Amino acid sequence: MTLPIPTTLGLKKSFGFGDRLGLATPGHLAAARKSDFAPIFAQQSIREMDRTQRTPQEVMLAAQKALAHAGYSQEWGADADHLKTEADVNITAATGYCFFTIDPSGLVVNDADTMSPALLVEQVAHLLRDGVFTDTHWAEHYLNQTFEVSDKTTLRFDQDGLYRAAAKYARAIAHCEKMTHAIAKASASRPYEIEVSVDESDSPTSALEHLFFGLELKRRGVHVVSLAPRFVGDFEKGIDYRDDLKAFEDCLQKHVEVAKYCGPYKLSIHSGSDKFSVYPIIGRVCENLVHVKTAGTSYLEALRVVCRKSPDLFSEIVQFSVQRFNLDRKSYHISTTELDVVDLAKKPTSDPERVYLEERVGRQLLHVTFGSVLTLGKARNGRSFKEAILELLNREKDLYAEVLEIHFTKHLSLLNAG
Ligand SMILES: [Zn+2]
Repeated sequence: MTLPIPTTLGLKKSFGFGDRLGLATPGHLAAARKSDFAPIFAQQSIREMDRTQRTPQEVMLAAQKALAHAGYSQEWGADADHLKTEADVNITAATGYCFFTIDPSGLVVNDADTMSPALLVEQVAHLLRDGVFTDTHWAEHYLNQTFEVSDKTTLRFDQDGLYRAAAKYARAIAHCEKMTHAIAKASASRPYEIEVSVDESDSPTSALEHLFFGLELKRRGVHVVSLAPRFVGDFEKGIDYRDDLKAFEDCLQKHVEVAKYCGPYKLSIHSGSDKFSVYPIIGRVCENLVHVKTAGTSYLEALRVVCRKSPDLFSEIVQFSVQRFNLDRKSYHISTTELDVVDLAKKPTSDPERVYLEERVGRQLLHVTFGSVLTLGKARNGRSFKEAILELLNREKDLYAEVLEIHFTKHLSLLNAG
């Protein structure tokens, strides 16, 4: 069996189907075939692979084998997601990934939002001292300059705006430059493309800050195919958007204008799982310049199969997840609290699929505990949850593909509905 090779997708609108269990590609493919989005079938972040104890190679092979089995011969991408270090680059490049998502969010200075002008001057001096800027004239590219990013929007850097943008993002941008050299080196002569994502930092990215980010990447020779700013409002994991839709649309509109001006590059929407109310807006405002990433939602669809076909196993997974919740929730952006989860688990239900897979508390409970369930969790009979889930999914292949196809057809058609 020859395995299909992932390729770069360029500026085509695209959709990332993350798969934490390695059995979701047939269902993903069924939905992708009915849409006009270029698909990314291998996509896992370093954090997800750590949590599930999978290697970049396993993730890649799972997608490749499923695509070969289906006789798929069209183009598809492979996203080495949320890379933070050069070691992350090397290990994923060696396995054939060609879409690299650089995540410099650890170097974003969120506090810059509230710094006084005097403190900003000090911070900017530190950027020079620390070699983040090697050119003492860097500010001349921006200061008091106006940028007509579209016929509707003109942006201008005064000293406060420029220094705040630099204090917040310059270290992150310099890290992207270093990572880009590592990607070029590790990819040797193979084609590759780069995304930069700061979606997992705390403070929203303003249009002016995005402009600084985009122009500064370009000035440093970093060419991105997509960029994920931190949008306004809460992009909580596993559930729909719950903030002001109009504010989101206005923010998105400005980011699209900046992305076209600096690139053009695509806007990348992370935590895209189940953001049904914003999808038509994203489709309408971004048109084709968009990439959407999902991951956790395919794991929840796997649990839907477990819930329907092995209710006892499902209830054991829920109980285990309740115990793990407080620890596991820490690195995720969710509003569900331990109290919510404990209350939910106390209430008997005749419809666990609705309670745990359709509603906020249940979905977020199961969303954040996937790593523990798949690596530590054991059923009462002593078998690991992972083994039991995989065996069930292998037995219920058609049902798993069907629920995934239904679920992602909804995602993809709503993106086109705007
Ligand atoms: Zn992300």
